[in-house]
Amino acid sequence: MNREAKQKLYDILFFIGQQIMNHHDPCAWKDGMCMKMRTVEGEEGCCEGCKHLSQKGCTVRSLACKLWLCDREESIFRECETELKILRLVADNCDIPYEWRKSKEENFRLWPEDSNKLAQVR
Ligand code: SF4
Ligand code: SF4
Repeated sequence: MNREAKQKLYDILFFIGQQIMNHHDPCAWKDGMCMKMRTVEGEEGCCEGCKHLSQKGCTVRSLACKLWLCDREESIFRECETELKILRLVADNCDIPYEWRKSKEENFRLWPEDSNKLAQVR
C-alpha cells in the first residue's frame, strides 16, 4: 500500500472511529469536562497538556486518540471498545502510522515516501 492509499485509509478509519464515538458517547462531554473528569475527583482528561488542545477541543485528526479509551470508559463501554479495537487491528495490519497525540501530518511526516520501495531497497 503506497503513501496515498495509507493516508486515505487513515481518514476513513478516523471517520468511522468518530461515528463509533458519536454513537456510544463514552466521554459524554459536558461543560468542558469529560465523564472521567466529572466522576473521579482530581482526575484530568486524556487531552490534558497536549499541544493540540484548544479552548474548543482538539484541533487535529489524531487517529490513535480517536481509537482509544481510558481504562475507566473501556471497562464500561465494552461494545465501543470492541469496535475501536477492530479499527486498530485494521490500522496495524495495513501499517498505518498512528501515534498518540500526533496529527495526521505529524504521523506521515517521517513516514517513508513509499514503504514498498523502501522494502525493496532493504
Ligand atoms: S477517554 Fe476518558 S479521559 Fe479521555 S476524554 Fe474520554 S472519558 Fe475523558
Ligand atoms: S491530539 Fe489527542 S490528546 Fe491531543 S488534543 Fe487531540 S485528542 Fe486530545
